[in-house]
Amino acid sequence: MTTDQPHPQLLLIFGGPGAGKGTQASQLSQRLGVPHISSGDLLREHQRHDTQNVMSSGELLPDDLVTRVVLARLEQPDAARGAILDGFPRTVAQARALDTWLEQRSGTLRAAFYLDVPPDELVARIVGRQESSHRRDDNAAVAERRVDIFNREMPPILDHYAAHGQLHRIDGTQSIDQVQMQIVAGLGR
Ligand code: AMP
Repeated sequence: MTTDQPHPQLLLIFGGPGAGKGTQASQLSQRLGVPHISSGDLLREHQRHDTQNVMSSGELLPDDLVTRVVLARLEQPDAARGAILDGFPRTVAQARALDTWLEQRSGTLRAAFYLDVPPDELVARIVGRQESSHRRDDNAAVAERRVDIFNREMPPILDHYAAHGQLHRIDGTQSIDQVQMQIVAGLGR
């Protein structure tokens, strides 16, 4: 790696399904001029039957597959200065792989934001967006499964970043603008 290459700076947006990660990450991407990388969007582009079936059931895909796809996207030239990650990492193994990737590129984690929304509201939001999202996993039964998986997988990830003093918790039940303002305020600190 040559010294004139920029060191990537990453921002992470965490939250349950329907917490508003995509909306916030996309607004932040415009504000900061770095790409919004959603693991869910990348995986939906895969269009493989086995992948689609797992995603439709609400279960997580294997760490090695997801990590490979996300890190390959981070290697694209438009992400050389950094990116906003939405939906990744979702497991401790993924967080470790991301740590290693950053270390190898002398990159930094600028901040991680957790959009906190109660489980019942997450399910209600997912069911509410079903008509516009056209996603097979946006229905009540799968939404509950996704929220359960999120509640199981997320605490150790949040602990991982909180231990490094990089985690900002934000009340995700506020308006889109209020959440965005708090993220921006958190970046300034
Ligand atoms: P999302 O668009 O973030 O709600 O993700 C939709 C689905 O894609 C999830 O329910 C998983 O099946 C899969 N997925 C997305 N990101 C990950 C990840 N980091 N690890 C494992 N599976 C993922």
